Amino acid sequence: MSMTTCAVLSCSEIASEEIENEKSGSEFLVCPDHKAAVENGHPWWPDRDTNGIRMGRDLPPGLAKWTVLETEAPGLILTIETDRPDVEPFQIYLSKDSYEHLAGAFRPVFKPAAQ
Ligand SMILES: [Zn+2]
Repeated sequence: MSMTTCAVLSCSEIASEEIENEKSGSEFLVCPDHKAAVENGHPWWPDRDTNGIRMGRDLPPGLAKWTVLETEAPGLILTIETDRPDVEPFQIYLSKDSYEHLAGAFRPVFKPAAQ
C-alpha cells in the first residue's frame, strides 16, 4: 500500500485513518490528529476543487456576534463579528428584498426539530 497524505488541505502528515461525510457518503483518508479533531466535533467539509478537506484555518470564520440596526432608509444594517481576532467586524446594508432573500435562504437548511 502506498503512503497517502492527509486529505486536510493544510496538512502534510501521513493518512492512516478514515472519515466519512455523512451527507454525501464520501470517504477521506486523514492523519490521526485530524481524525480526532473530526471526532471532537470540529467542522469540516470537502473541497470540490482539490478533493481534499477544509478544516480550521481553511474554513471561513465563524459567526461570533451580530447586531441589527434599523435605518432611516427602508432597510437594516447588519453588523457581523467573527470568531477570528484578525477579521475586523463588518457591516452589511440589507434592503427589504435582500433581507427576505437572506432569511429565505436558511429555511431549507435549518428545519425546526421534530416535536
Ligand atoms: Zn492531517
